[in-house]
Amino acid sequence: MRRLVPTRALLYLLSLIALELTPSTPSFAQVITAGSPRCPGVALTFDLCPVRKGSGYDQPLMDYLITHRIPATFFMSGKWMAKHESEVEQLLGLDFFEIGTHGDVHAHLPMHDADEQRTEILGPVTLLQEHYGHQARLFRPPYGEYNDVTVAVVKLLGLQFIQWNIESGDPDPTLSAEQIFTRVSKRAKPGSIIVFHANGKGKQTRQVIERLTRETLPAKKLRPMTVNELLDCTSQTP
Ligand SMILES: [Zn+2]
Repeated sequence: MRRLVPTRALLYLLSLIALELTPSTPSFAQVITAGSPRCPGVALTFDLCPVRKGSGYDQPLMDYLITHRIPATFFMSGKWMAKHESEVEQLLGLDFFEIGTHGDVHAHLPMHDADEQRTEILGPVTLLQEHYGHQARLFRPPYGEYNDVTVAVVKLLGLQFIQWNIESGDPDPTLSAEQIFTRVSKRAKPGSIIVFHANGKGKQTRQVIERLTRETLPAKKLRPMTVNELLDCTSQTP
């Protein structure tokens, strides 16, 4: 006869479901892919996934964003942060930038149980808090992959789950700057959240960002905002 012994992970899941039913739980953690369509802004977001080769930091892109004080949101993975301490310090010190997290080792979350997902999600949140004194509330899953367990864990941890509604495709080496620019430029509209990379994987990213911020966004009367600004923004008035 099979013995029905609940595993630790199952018990944990059950406790999550119980929490899900508690009305006092904050309503964070539905998966956010865009801001209000009435908001005259877009969020330029940049994932900082770990890299095997190269510096892992797109200096020309960052110089452009910093020089022009362009609001942007970065999702840092723990593994990336471990190799880029001074960059983390610099980005945290700029008030037009916002910092979220992107998993610890860039794991495929749906392949893991609830305990493992919690460890992966919490790694860089704890590092930012303990080492840099920064509370990071925004979370984006590695590869954009998640399941119901991920949503429950993110909610339990009090984080906001931020995806996107425009994928630039910037790490794809077969796409030209023109192709990426056209794709993003056509789709950009009020409330868009656009995903790029700032870890050097996007060879065309700086060029695309320059054209977007100089041509597309002013022409469409949209301005770059951090994710939080975008989520707080509902009105037509700039
Ligand atoms: Zn990533």
